Amino acid sequence: MADIIQLLPDHVANQIAAGEVVQRPASVVKELLENAIDAQASLVKLIVKDAGKTLIQVIDDGKGMSTTDARLSFERHATSKIKSAEDLFRLNTKGFRGEALASIAAIAHVELKTKQEQTELGTQIEIEGSVVKSQDVIVTPKGTSIAVKHLFFNIPARRNFLKSNTVELRHIIDEFHRVALAHPDITFVMFHNGSESFNLPKSNYRQRVVNIFGNKTNEKLVPVEEETEVLKISGFVAKPEFARKTKTEQFFFVNNRFIKSAYLNHAINAAFDGLLKEGSYPSYFLNLSVDPKTIDINIHPTKTEIKFDDEHTLYAILRSSVKHSLGQFNIAPVLDFEHDQNLDTPYSYREKTISNPTVEVDRTFNPFQEEKTNVKARGISTTYKRDTAEWESLYVGLESKSTKSHHDFSEIEVESEPETGLLFSDDNSNKVSQTTYQLHNKYIISTIKSGMLIIDQHRAHQRILYEGLLKYTTIKEAVSQQLLFPLVLEFSCSEMKLLGQLKEDLEHTGFVFSAFKASAIEITGVPANVPESEVSIILEQLINDVEQEVPDSNFSATDLLAKSLSKSLAVKTGQSLTIMEQEHLVNSLFACKEPSVSPTNKVTFITMSVDDFDKKFM
Ligand code: ADP
Ligand code: MG
Repeated sequence: MADIIQLLPDHVANQIAAGEVVQRPASVVKELLENAIDAQASLVKLIVKDAGKTLIQVIDDGKGMSTTDARLSFERHATSKIKSAEDLFRLNTKGFRGEALASIAAIAHVELKTKQEQTELGTQIEIEGSVVKSQDVIVTPKGTSIAVKHLFFNIPARRNFLKSNTVELRHIIDEFHRVALAHPDITFVMFHNGSESFNLPKSNYRQRVVNIFGNKTNEKLVPVEEETEVLKISGFVAKPEFARKTKTEQFFFVNNRFIKSAYLNHAINAAFDGLLKEGSYPSYFLNLSVDPKTIDINIHPTKTEIKFDDEHTLYAILRSSVKHSLGQFNIAPVLDFEHDQNLDTPYSYREKTISNPTVEVDRTFNPFQEEKTNVKARGISTTYKRDTAEWESLYVGLESKSTKSHHDFSEIEVESEPETGLLFSDDNSNKVSQTTYQLHNKYIISTIKSGMLIIDQHRAHQRILYEGLLKYTTIKEAVSQQLLFPLVLEFSCSEMKLLGQLKEDLEHTGFVFSAFKASAIEITGVPANVPESEVSIILEQLINDVEQEVPDSNFSATDLLAKSLSKSLAVKTGQSLTIMEQEHLVNSLFACKEPSVSPTNKVTFITMSVDDFDKKFM
């Protein structure tokens, strides 16, 4: 059979590429504006007729092109911006694919005029559908003017696909805004159908935002500034009361390039958590600067999505700096627990009379006695002394004193057996026999009426501690254990900042701070269930958790604290438990509001019915 593969002619390849690069007039606007910026223009004029369907022209006063370059610029993969693949990782230009002009010229009539500073005369080139119609020497000012007419003249399907002028113009203006916001140091002017739509003189960032979005914007803006090793943030968020019903005022720029990132957007939403009405979106205009090596902007042809090396860290920094700004400007009730909707906990503790916190002194404490703890940095692995008293102490302060909370198995409701509410079958509970069994120091197995209950000990204990901690931070009635000697712990500046934000919350769990200095804290009391030897690790873990906190729409400091502490304090997998401890754990778990999941939403127990077993034995 004859060979059938052939190379596509350039103009066809260009048309195909154009499909990716040029979706609508606004795409042309974006490419031309970006080229002007890459050419170091200080003044950029955009002229549009009929929402770009008739004309899109960009005139700049940038460095212009030589005659040869002018001709070459329309070739595919013709770019002056990168020379090798490595250059992709140190990009500081908008373009780099060398595709835009070739694509645009493939599907429109293009007229280019350009002149470099040092030359007397410039070059004019006319191209229609990739075919060069004319090339002349002309008199023209320094810089470049590219006029794109009759877009999609040779692709009627595309042309018909265009939306109304209103819609297409909206897209053009969006692109214009994005580029103008990323470059306040450049003057931008835009004309539509002969009249000036925008005149944005070179200015600072705040003025640029105000010039685009109107004078009223000024009072809405709260500055956000942050500089860390990996990320520099500058820009503004709008105060929560000015949040909008649409997402039209949400702008992220990474290294002066407009990007879309649902993930980073989430970080902002998280920072605004609890401050916005349902269905409203925060406005933000934020510039992020990162090392170009740590991003990959090459994953999307029109380059509004980029890939970050360490998105999690960016997320955490972004959220905390926005939160910080909102807090600084007295917008966020950062430490105002009463009004945090997350704290409208389901616990009916409001009727309870408030009693003063009591301080318990550990009289048996001997500072010279060797602690039986074995602590690895950050990851916490502790060998507890195995006696019941110590186990019970894990619950001190977490158990409700009201009689109603004295749970036993008979009060537990299990979904599969709603009629009786009895978890353990009668014949079992009458015996004094063992009702629980620990499997591999990891699971607690128990028989229930319908079959078998398997509990993950670590997750279950997390749930128990979490609900206890939430209760106590909400009603501010935690039991504290006074330390014999104050404990001094040192932290970095940024860690201290975080701890400062959590201070009040920590106090509600039972921590007592005698000093909160610039780089150290002095602790004189700790929650009753926290061994002194673990305090520093628990706080480190807490800081780590706050820093690493990933998307969770229900973020609140109290909640995070409770989650982190419960994780640190819960019995670990691998820890053997006495029968009494096992039973206590099962009882306490089912006394929880939400026994079935851990604070991080992982399943705490499963049941296997006798039927399930029967099936397996068939
Ligand atoms: P890219 O921007 O990806 O390099 P383009 O097709 O947009 O590819 O442009 C091709 C080349 O044409 C650019 O690399 C640049 O050298 C030149 N060029 C395009 N527009 C301008 C302009 N306004 N001023 C100066 N040079 C330009
Ligand atoms: Mg370009």
